[in-house]
Amino acid sequence: MYRKTNEHTEIKDYSRIFEYDHITLIDIDNILFFDPPLDSILKIDSRKLVSKLDSLVLSNLLKREEVQKIYCNNCLSTDIRKEFLCPRCKSSRVYKDIIIIHMCGYRGTRKAYQYINYLRCPKCKKELRRENDDYVVEGVKYKCIDCSKIFEEPIINYKCNSCGNNLGESPKKIKIIKYIRSL
Ligand SMILES: [Zn+2]
Ligand SMILES: [Zn+2]
Ligand SMILES: [Zn+2]
Repeated sequence: MYRKTNEHTEIKDYSRIFEYDHITLIDIDNILFFDPPLDSILKIDSRKLVSKLDSLVLSNLLKREEVQKIYCNNCLSTDIRKEFLCPRCKSSRVYKDIIIIHMCGYRGTRKAYQYINYLRCPKCKKELRRENDDYVVEGVKYKCIDCSKIFEEPIINYKCNSCGNNLGESPKKIKIIKYIRSL
């Protein structure tokens, strides 16, 4: 008798899902939040609800859209910026430019050679004439404004714009899944 009631409730549960145009599932580090809070409305385990929703996607009754966003593990903000850091002094004041070596031994960014409307060595003050003759173009690299280091690979760091927390090179992502009613 009890079992029958339970089955009946389950069938009713399914239909309640379709009372909503869309259901949002937020997955933060494997902790699931539903909006509307369908798991508590239906009194069902959140993982079980996910598999039900996914099965409804397979039967084309719901559409599933997923976006992943980096989030701050301190304040939960998703307002995150990517920084390029100097591998020597960890400064974020770095810029990308073409690196040129002059025959006098000076090595620097193209910007440093720019003089009025031509290129001139900032060390020996001679004008740059022929590539591979009096100067060599080394390629595009990064230069640190703070310690002058020239490097190819910056350190990647993610930083929270809301609280300033450093999230490192591979921060955690929040998953936002939308289940949208097909009809
Ligand atoms: Zn020079
Ligand atoms: Zn530096
Ligand atoms: Zn934060």
